[in-house]
Amino acid sequence: MGLVTGMCSLPASLDGRPKLLLIDGEWVPARSGRVFDSYNPSNGEVIARLAQGDKEDIDLAVAAARQAFQGPWSKFTPAQRQNVLLKLADLVEQNLGDLSLLDSVDMGAPIGHGLSDSAVETLRYYAGWATKIQGETVPNSNPGSFFSYTLKEPVGVVGAIIPWNAPLSSAIEKIAPVLTTGCTMILKPAEEAALSPLAIGELINQLDLPPGVINIVTGFGDTAGAALSEHADVDKVAFTGSSFTGQEIVRAAAGNLKRVSLELGGKSPDVIFADADLDAAVPGAGMAVFANSGQVCCAGTRVFVERPIYEEFVARVSAFADSLKVGNSLDPETQIGPIVSQVQLDRVTGYLEIGKSEGARTTAGGERLATGDLAKGYFVLPTVFADVNDDMRIAQEEIFGPVAAVLPFDSFEEVSMRSNKTQFGLGGGVWTRDVGKAHRMAAAINTGVVWVNTYLNFDPAMPFGGSKMSGWGNEMGQHSLDEYLNIKAVWINTGE
Ligand code: ADP
Repeated sequence: MGLVTGMCSLPASLDGRPKLLLIDGEWVPARSGRVFDSYNPSNGEVIARLAQGDKEDIDLAVAAARQAFQGPWSKFTPAQRQNVLLKLADLVEQNLGDLSLLDSVDMGAPIGHGLSDSAVETLRYYAGWATKIQGETVPNSNPGSFFSYTLKEPVGVVGAIIPWNAPLSSAIEKIAPVLTTGCTMILKPAEEAALSPLAIGELINQLDLPPGVINIVTGFGDTAGAALSEHADVDKVAFTGSSFTGQEIVRAAAGNLKRVSLELGGKSPDVIFADADLDAAVPGAGMAVFANSGQVCCAGTRVFVERPIYEEFVARVSAFADSLKVGNSLDPETQIGPIVSQVQLDRVTGYLEIGKSEGARTTAGGERLATGDLAKGYFVLPTVFADVNDDMRIAQEEIFGPVAAVLPFDSFEEVSMRSNKTQFGLGGGVWTRDVGKAHRMAAAINTGVVWVNTYLNFDPAMPFGGSKMSGWGNEMGQHSLDEYLNIKAVWINTGE
């Protein structure tokens, strides 16, 4: 494990003034006047104070979004909406350095890793769709009497609730389809990491958008988040976060049966066959777990390794884990930053103890790093547990930390079955030189995305979503637009 030194400077927007809520185009304090602190997880220091929005603020933001949905925004042509997205993409591109710094200092993403780089491409990708949303003429069974067609219309006011593990890209992945389809929104960032979403709000105010199209309310999940998901005048909730909170949101949404899309947790299998190129599979499967300190919903945390190469793989992936540079997120050399908060740190270190007490063999890491400059931060060493079996909690529960569970297997049939022995269905990986086996395994894994001889690739054009407890619907890609559109069937009587 290497420690790192040199450091980037803090973003200029962290000027000490409390951050406000964006409601109806204006930056306003919470009605209650309350604020809360946001921490830098690399050193535990307060970096900003944020307005603590709750139900009253959500009510105001929803009213503004409703008015905007019915107002001049509804008259924007597809080409005008496309231009809004392209202008926002340009602004994000011009400010990407600062936005990335905000994510690094706010949630601990290593500055050198480009966690936020996809935001610009995502906006430009969606901009292309704004002019291509169209219904169909439908050949009904009585064409002499009826002409029938479909229209695709925006669902209306969207409540978007996002997590802290990739704040900028999560915000953009919600804002982009809203602008593309002509919806309006209230964005509720995570309380742990709201700075880059708020900075996007500053950029949105530089666009020629009617007020109220995009509103941003910071606050806690059980107050602001709950008020948004149960609000009777919200037409859809788009949520990314834990499966537990996803269930809460579904219950809250039942009041007015609003549309819900969910991108939730995972415990994804990554299958290494004996014929795999281990020079690629070791770092590939390693970073599938350790990237962003394991705070990735589709991290490949259950690593199944074919028995003939099991011990060799365990030794090599453990050496790889030990070689990663753990450090302050603002150091360009850092590969593994901190865990986002004290609460999450306690959760992850709790799982380290659970793994040991369940009898797993610790072959790398296994503890918090609390020495020298890093003692005040929330650092966990990249950890490899070997000799894990399917029934251990570390093989079944989402840890959301840099913790790999490595499990041996003996046959294709066995690993096909065991890879799906989970309540989740988000990501999956296959490493093999046999192209037929790769396709068969990709088909066998019951998840929303499978990577072959690679892992954690994302693209705005590729759908991303999960099955089972990992969610409902897709983000990104063409089909994500349907989550924000209603289909209307229109019948015209052409008969006499
Ligand atoms: P984590 O446990 O990793 O913080 P959560 O799913 O709790 O993940 O948080 C993701 C987002 O959901 C955050 O913006 C959080 O404020 C919000 N949230 C948490 N609880 C609720 C809730 N009961 N209703 C709506 N939103 C919530």
